[in-house]
Amino acid sequence: MKVTFYGAAGGVTGSKHLLEVNGKRVLLDCGMFQGNRKESLERNYHLPMELVDVDAVVLSHAHLDHCGLLPRLVKLGYKGKIFCTPATRDIAELIMSDSAHIQEQDFKWMQKEHLKLEQPAEPLYEMDDIPPTMDAFSFVPYAHETNDWTEILPGVRLKLYEAGHILGSASPVLEFDSANGPQRICFSGDLGRKNTPLLRDPDYPKDEIPTLLLESTYGNREHKTRETALGRIKKIIHEAVDNRSKIIVPAFALGRTQELVYTLHRMNDEGEIPAIPIYVDSPLASRVTQVFRNHRHDYDNDAWKDFLEKGEFPLFFDGLTYTKSTRESMDLNTKSGPMMIISAAGMCEAGRIRHHLRNNLENPNNIVMMIGFMAANTLGRKLVEGADTVNIWGTPYDVKARVEVFNEFSAHAGANELEEFAENIPGLERVFLVHGEPTQSKALEERLKSNGHKWTVRIAEEEQAVAF
Ligand SMILES: [Zn+2]
Repeated sequence: MKVTFYGAAGGVTGSKHLLEVNGKRVLLDCGMFQGNRKESLERNYHLPMELVDVDAVVLSHAHLDHCGLLPRLVKLGYKGKIFCTPATRDIAELIMSDSAHIQEQDFKWMQKEHLKLEQPAEPLYEMDDIPPTMDAFSFVPYAHETNDWTEILPGVRLKLYEAGHILGSASPVLEFDSANGPQRICFSGDLGRKNTPLLRDPDYPKDEIPTLLLESTYGNREHKTRETALGRIKKIIHEAVDNRSKIIVPAFALGRTQELVYTLHRMNDEGEIPAIPIYVDSPLASRVTQVFRNHRHDYDNDAWKDFLEKGEFPLFFDGLTYTKSTRESMDLNTKSGPMMIISAAGMCEAGRIRHHLRNNLENPNNIVMMIGFMAANTLGRKLVEGADTVNIWGTPYDVKARVEVFNEFSAHAGANELEEFAENIPGLERVFLVHGEPTQSKALEERLKSNGHKWTVRIAEEEQAVAF
């Protein structure tokens, strides 16, 4: 077996790993690279051509940094299928359509404003590229539903285990026929945490698997429990009422937004927070919420029972508005606080959130709540790191609003849970660490090597090929 790491190696974005066994070539994920604008444009435009003629693609989950270049792959000539769970397919359609739209809009806006930024001659892909991409999708059920292998190519079989990271997320296990018998590999995908309010716990693969590609986003951290965040959120909302503040929350339209809305709904019902207008200003988040309705069996029953018994849907409550039109979004600028605006895109590199930050960062009364992971060199990361000034579309803005950073809402397993995942795989011999910034992967490597495990552990390197 040969594995080549084309992305999310030495970093967390642009997940792409090529597997080659016995003449069969399978690509795990085809994610968009997210970082500073110039590097992202460069890397996403120049998708390696050897990935275009793979035999099949397996998609772990529908975050943009895992599925975002699928339309580009199809546009460049990929003719095979894309295998994933049904919920991932539905969400990927929304995420990729939104990405196409954002790129078209950003492109037009930059032209209109005559911004002297380096920009390519056309968007990476457009709305017209989405339907042919969707035609390539093919469902595979979760292993806990069937436990059968699904043949995705002659001599190549797939199982998808629940990853508990976002709705539809999976840890794929592949089995390839070869002269030496079947060869198996597991890709953790992005692993979630146990006991999150909306999702099932991650599932451990039950098959004998010698090789694991393990994510390492938080290889050096354990997360605080969500409960510790509640007190801080409560305080921030009370403060917003006193100071008529706007609370701006950059959040992934998928995952963090639903979890925060669920948490606010709970606190609201229990009378813990005063009623302030809350806007989810992301058309994508609204659509994703609809997918949650359609995949009722894919989330954790316990957490939803209370609401459903009362005849309520957990992601809607009085005072909460999902904005639809651009007009409604722009109107939020002229409204005064207190209010909360939850908006995408998560890392603040595109979408409506940039407008909200531009309009609100310079007011010391306002508060920015950072609840998701921010990759290096993104606007979101600069805010997390306490930058005094940030550039938005070439204009500097002073950061006078208070930035509050929350790690409790992480959708990624902490170091303990990552180790536990590997420990539970029968017959494991080697681990390659992917999807982590160097300090995090290094820490996890040391941890996995020092705890008396028998596996070899290696950090994947960009464009590196390993054979075993
Ligand atoms: Zn993810």
